[in-house]
Amino acid sequence: MTSSTTQNQSQNQITFADFQFPDALKQALEAMGYEIPTPVQAKAIPLVLEGKDILATAQTGTGKTAAFALPLLKKMLSGSKQPALIVAPTRELAEQIGGVLKQLTQFTPQIKATVIIGGTAYHHQIRSLRANPMFVVGTPGRLLDQIRGGHLNLSNFGTLVIDEADRLLDMGFEPQMNELVANLPKQRQSLLFSATLPEEIVRLANSYLREPVRVAVGAVSKPVERIRQSVIQVATKDKDLTMLREINKVEGSIIIFMKTKYKTERLAKYLAGAGLNVARIHGDRSQRQRSGAISDFREGRVRILVATDIAARGLDIPHIQHVINYDLPMCPEDYIHRIGRTARAGAEGHSLSFVTPEEQQKWARIHKLIHGHFPEENLKGARAPNRAERRAPLAQKGRAQHGRPQQHGRSSREQDATRDQGRSNRGAQQFEKRRGVELSPRRAAELRAEQFLKDERRAARGGSLPQKPSGGKVVKSEGPQPVHKSAHESEHKQKPKSSRWKSIQRALTGR
Ligand code: AMP
Repeated sequence: MTSSTTQNQSQNQITFADFQFPDALKQALEAMGYEIPTPVQAKAIPLVLEGKDILATAQTGTGKTAAFALPLLKKMLSGSKQPALIVAPTRELAEQIGGVLKQLTQFTPQIKATVIIGGTAYHHQIRSLRANPMFVVGTPGRLLDQIRGGHLNLSNFGTLVIDEADRLLDMGFEPQMNELVANLPKQRQSLLFSATLPEEIVRLANSYLREPVRVAVGAVSKPVERIRQSVIQVATKDKDLTMLREINKVEGSIIIFMKTKYKTERLAKYLAGAGLNVARIHGDRSQRQRSGAISDFREGRVRILVATDIAARGLDIPHIQHVINYDLPMCPEDYIHRIGRTARAGAEGHSLSFVTPEEQQKWARIHKLIHGHFPEENLKGARAPNRAERRAPLAQKGRAQHGRPQQHGRSSREQDATRDQGRSNRGAQQFEKRRGVELSPRRAAELRAEQFLKDERRAARGGSLPQKPSGGKVVKSEGPQPVHKSAHESEHKQKPKSSRWKSIQRALTGR
């Protein structure tokens, strides 16, 4: 393995003009607003043009897709007839790469790209493969299905690109990768991109690549530095209401990460019940639903995406401003991938993690990983758990505790919010008692959410908070106003307020 000759070259010395792209490609770059190459592009493009194999480690959101797509396109536009195979670990990432290729080829319609992923109709894919696309992007399982079915022949492919290779291995795709590679010609160019470089990736690189040039951009496992990170110490039972409060405090798009598919469904429904416009994505949803959710979120039709770790890697949606970890991830590295969904392409971003008493050890491990890798001022809100927290779970007393109340005291807004939460809880209980009905936990949660948001809005308007719970009489809430509202396509369509309140009243009265 040789070391990159361009490693120490300043990125500022290289411009897109240096690569002498054909006019149609220059036009596409202009239309996409790409003015200067990102560091990974500055390093990788000349190497790919030279025909070298590369092993690249790059931070998330660094412009990896164009780093391999631009030089391959230049070669194709200069007469190369050999198509490229691009393998990605998730359907979402494959679709995203397909989207970038579509933009890059907007002025060169003769160069076609197709996306071959599971969960979508075979016959469309077969038709698109018959058109001899120059780029075939896909996930390993469906690519192999199409090869076995005789619809995809890789024998004349000149390039293999493996994106997010570490994730492919994590997901157990190595046997499928080996089978795919066995179908490719031995004489080919191979480009491997990975966020991290564990031993298994080096082993994979040794078997798939020939004398690869190592390209490294930034430290491995280090996300962009602009992300301001913070944590909230919270009891499990208070997570939902705390989530509503946090959502209500901020503006802009939010992605919320959950541990399980079930919890993803539950939280999405809960937030939708509180009148928020939410999409959700997890492995039990059909590909149509998953793509619909991502596109609603990407296009700004919904402001909030609730997701399992399926969305933790590769997803590039520049407008995501907040990442909230409702549950901490199982392994500390996934924390880095998750928060890397924000602060994309130079933007600012914020991450917030809920930490329960039971998750203190997990948080300590994450803190150890991130400490020293970020500017201290961006970690102000993300302190390590203290000894007491690590040893004995906090006595929660039914309310969330922000930051370090013992030391700094809480802001009056935080105190108000906690008081509201207590009121909202009491309100729901009072309703229950007076009506003599047993509320389902979901209905009670919805009711608390509505009440909470109502009080928050009233407080924001400068009105005084109710001194007593407003039990007994259901007062119609104004409901929150989603920032991006979809008239038709959001997954959890916002019910008309009257019907929402009717259903809550029905739940209360049992009628
Ligand atoms: P990627 O790492 O390929 O997912 O790209 C991350 C983001 O950077 C995407 O939103 C790209 O559109 C954007 N991007 C990539 N290259 C450039 C560039 N040279 N100038 C500006 N934005 C870019």
